[in-house]
Amino acid sequence: MKFNFESSAERSSILLIYTGGTIGMKADPVEQTLKPFDFSQILEEVPELGKFAYRIDSCTAESVIDSADIEPASWQGLVRLIESRYDSYDGFVILHGTDTMAYSASALSFMIEGLTKPVIFTGSQLPVGVARTDGKENLISAVEIAAAKDSSGHAMVPEVCICFGNMLMRGNRSTKVSSESFRAFRSENLPPLAEAGINIRYNAGIIMRPSDWSRRPVFHKSLDTRVSILKLHPGITPGVVRNILCGEGTRAVIIETYGSGNATSRQWFLDMVRESVSMGKIIVNVTQCLAGSVNMDLYATGKKLEEAGVKSGYDSSTEGMLAKLFFLMGKSESNTEVIRQLDENLRGEITK
Ligand code: ASP
Repeated sequence: MKFNFESSAERSSILLIYTGGTIGMKADPVEQTLKPFDFSQILEEVPELGKFAYRIDSCTAESVIDSADIEPASWQGLVRLIESRYDSYDGFVILHGTDTMAYSASALSFMIEGLTKPVIFTGSQLPVGVARTDGKENLISAVEIAAAKDSSGHAMVPEVCICFGNMLMRGNRSTKVSSESFRAFRSENLPPLAEAGINIRYNAGIIMRPSDWSRRPVFHKSLDTRVSILKLHPGITPGVVRNILCGEGTRAVIIETYGSGNATSRQWFLDMVRESVSMGKIIVNVTQCLAGSVNMDLYATGKKLEEAGVKSGYDSSTEGMLAKLFFLMGKSESNTEVIRQLDENLRGEITK
């Protein structure tokens, strides 16, 4: 992604990055369609932002996209942008379509190591230009949180997060759960990092902080995307499973299992899992449930999967695990090293 800059003349501490999505759309009365609005006019569109004593600069992606078109290259572009402007801002707010926001937030959480400033994704279900929009509230809360400091002057939330529907969630714990509700995202395995009511209440006990505030983060750009996802369901056929587990071109497979990591006990399935592991693929078990964790010791089939070499994804979301694999595989050619780090809680993405 390439970005065009608009800088307001006021004081500056927040960089607003518009990538696309519903939030930045405005009704075009002539063409009767939704069109992206001009972010240099952000204060006209959302005058409430002017009440904050921050300078808000904005930049817009050269081509504004529906988030269904987000690619790893877009994440690399965002990471490069944040890296290049890191010292100039107190926080970053990324306006992004909701459909793949949880994937993007997960990816950036791994790609930026040792964050000392907030990177907050937000968007909306209704365009900012529409009367009942949720976009203004989401944007205003995101900006306020991105600028918030504690009594020592450090960022309140130096994490990659999603701010949506009055809740601030860790990015790699979030999932889009509704295509209609203003509360479109949930983070079932981790309570919100903050909730915006009359005041913004921070859940300080679970917010991650860097060990050294003065150290610059490491901005990782290389990703290996050779991952597939196999969602189990009753009636799944050996042919379909074989294509995904033993197909060429994949280095890792995420199996979305039932409940606490359970899968069909059919022999052909276990044989294919073993075959896939013997082909050198990394197989990770993540639950289809929104809440709870994989525990492969609980049921006989889970145990057999573990014995076959399947790794636990613990309570990771699918989006979080996909991003973790892209990141770890991008860093290392060694599957042993990837598997070792998969088991670690790198960015608060799993509870062990
Ligand atoms: N299709 C849009 C997108 O994800 C929906 C949204 O912004 O909410 O870009």
